[in-house]
Amino acid sequence: MDYRTLCLAPAGTAFRLDKRDPAAHNSFSGRADAQPEIDAQLKRMGTFQEKLYAEKKRSLLIVLQGIDAAGKDGVCWHVLKGIGPQGCHVAAFKVPSEEEKAHDFLWRVHPHTPALGTVAVFNRSHYEDVLVARVHKLVPEAVWRQRYDVINDFERGLQLAGTTILKFFLYISKEEQLKRFAARLDDPDRQWKISASDYTERAYWDDYMAAYDDMISHCSTPHAPWYVIPSNHKWFRDLAISQIIANTMDDMDMQPPQATVDVVEIRKLYEAEVAKAAADGEKAGKAG
Ligand code: AMP
Ligand code: MG
Repeated sequence: MDYRTLCLAPAGTAFRLDKRDPAAHNSFSGRADAQPEIDAQLKRMGTFQEKLYAEKKRSLLIVLQGIDAAGKDGVCWHVLKGIGPQGCHVAAFKVPSEEEKAHDFLWRVHPHTPALGTVAVFNRSHYEDVLVARVHKLVPEAVWRQRYDVINDFERGLQLAGTTILKFFLYISKEEQLKRFAARLDDPDRQWKISASDYTERAYWDDYMAAYDDMISHCSTPHAPWYVIPSNHKWFRDLAISQIIANTMDDMDMQPPQATVDVVEIRKLYEAEVAKAAADGEKAGKAG
């Protein structure tokens, strides 16, 4: 099954998260069962990335959004490792600095979009400016509302410049979030991830869900679709995202560039070297 069909939020429709199941998964029974398939998708991603890099005519932007503990960092560690560090850039967007706040909201984002031949990953993104900015009333409604159009135009401009855009919303349930907070408390290696704001933000759960619904409804476009990934099961999240990335790159049908040298002539040079090496070997044999 192509998970793009299962996870796509169709463009131009009123999207509702509560109509989707964050615990959905397919016929695999768990991580151990699904891992060979995940590994196969990671391998495909790597192969296509080499072609993207060699071709240098297009680029790929992957946007990750989701509530605290939804797994944005997990996807960066476990899925995007399929994409090699050569020609890949991850940008994480935190609370804006004073300088960033003094500019339009896309100012800090634009320098991180992918150059031709490369992949960029946004761990949080320009969408925070219609999410946290809305939920916490950082700007008036009239301001965040007009940002949907600004974002669609921005993404359309990127597409026209050769960027394929994949946006993943990692969807977990409120119960699953609390389980993950508990796991962080119980694991000394992961306590660094705990922040008091995780708990204050949880109080705004319903406001965030409404903001996500509107973000997806307004900004899932044919040129930059939102995929809503059921993420309660981390293994299913990894499987769906890795397959969607690999299938999308496959469809991009990258063509390696033509050789810049005359391969027939270079082959003659090579054959002369082989003959010389053989003659040298014979001489050394006789001498020894
Ligand atoms: P984390 O991703 O857990 O390290 O947290 C980053 C924090 O930065 C989150 O609480 C985000 O809501 C916040 N953040 C990211 N972008 C913005 C923004 N444009 N305006 C306000 N807060 C933001
Ligand atoms: Mg966090």
